[in-house]
Amino acid sequence: MKQKEIVMACICDYASQMRGKGYWTDKPDKAIAGGVGLAPTNLMITTFGEIVNTPWGAKGDILMVPDMETKVTLDLDKDKSREHFVLCDLKNLDGSAWECCPRDWLKRGLYVLNNEFGLSLKSAFEHEFHYSGASKKLGNAYGLDAMRLQGEFANTLMNALEVNGVNPEMFMPEYGEQQYEVTCSASMGLESADRAIKLREITRSVARHFGHKATFSPIMGMGKTGNGVHIHYSLVDAKGNANSYNPELLGSIDRELASFTAGILRAMPEFIALTASSVISYERLKPNRWSATYNNLADKDREASIRICPLPKIDGINPSERFNLEFRASDASANPYMVLASLVWSGISGLREELTLPQIIQDDPSSLTKEEQKALRVKRLPQSLDEALTYLEESKMMKSSMGDAFHQAYLIHKRSELSLLEGLSDEEIVNKYAQCY
Ligand code: GLU
Ligand code: MG
Repeated sequence: MKQKEIVMACICDYASQMRGKGYWTDKPDKAIAGGVGLAPTNLMITTFGEIVNTPWGAKGDILMVPDMETKVTLDLDKDKSREHFVLCDLKNLDGSAWECCPRDWLKRGLYVLNNEFGLSLKSAFEHEFHYSGASKKLGNAYGLDAMRLQGEFANTLMNALEVNGVNPEMFMPEYGEQQYEVTCSASMGLESADRAIKLREITRSVARHFGHKATFSPIMGMGKTGNGVHIHYSLVDAKGNANSYNPELLGSIDRELASFTAGILRAMPEFIALTASSVISYERLKPNRWSATYNNLADKDREASIRICPLPKIDGINPSERFNLEFRASDASANPYMVLASLVWSGISGLREELTLPQIIQDDPSSLTKEEQKALRVKRLPQSLDEALTYLEESKMMKSSMGDAFHQAYLIHKRSELSLLEGLSDEEIVNKYAQCY
């Protein structure tokens, strides 16, 4: 007998966990367009599954309203039911956006970017993760054998991503043992964040299909190589033309992308709690990890928080189509809508003030004196989630773009997460996060 199937209507919450409720797939789209009820306090479920503190208690009601364009269907086993999920917006009962909805915060930023400056964001996420099903072999970093030793996982994953509109480009063995990476083609605005969420969930599902686990936790062991989420970005003008490349200017970065990026660099210490959102994210953001430690811009440097990506001078490549910058101070404990929104809103502040870029710093910023760092507007990023939350709390720019209620709710959520780790050893903390991501 062919069974009826269930689709999960999900939100990606402040801990970047997908949580939701299921309904029959044969229920007409119209019938669920009115949304699925949710308690606001559900957003206060920490990544460890417990609620510690909430501004809403048992009160209130909001709606998860599916965006049918984002629906994912996974048909991995012909003898089993398919898996379906769809991403939702969070709305008030009157249909207006809920003020603490991460997806809406990004939508508002993209609207302002377009409305005030006639610009759109083009971006692409790269994800690193560990796949437990890959057999280990000494010396296998980036290895062809590492590709063989993951079996059928890569092909199945890439096909599942492709049929669900994620547009994967590359699958590669990474530096760490059992570590792999998937890159995607660039997409516009909100879609890029939707794809990032789909990619994480599809990867987890395909790994489970093979009886294993895909883990996106920022660090899998103290001192071990990190799982980064890198975001390539550029700006596109109202006519749809790339608006980022100008070989005459510093770093070949055109004027508007320069102001946008100067805004990101300036605000980075204030928003890092939203892009590196877990306690162990700060173990990854350490020197010599190929991640990021300062709010610096550098050319082809994988330890810069913003890297100017290489531009191969090969015939037939249009440099303005290809040119992009890469934000590297992010990982999968962060909600992709909130990561892109942090970039967009701080970029908007740079555009509004017509900020210019600080100098490109090719030296390790830690080798500069305090005076030199100040002159170059370069700062050490916060070194713990606790410190990053204090920066976020004090940031007028972040508070005004998020709105008071959302800003406050996020701080409460993350401080709850901190409180659940009190007294645990580093190793216990790393293991806890590996179970959740
Ligand atoms: N694994 C590094 C990170 O945590 C990045 C390595 C790379 O550049 O691909 O971000
Ligand atoms: Mg990589």
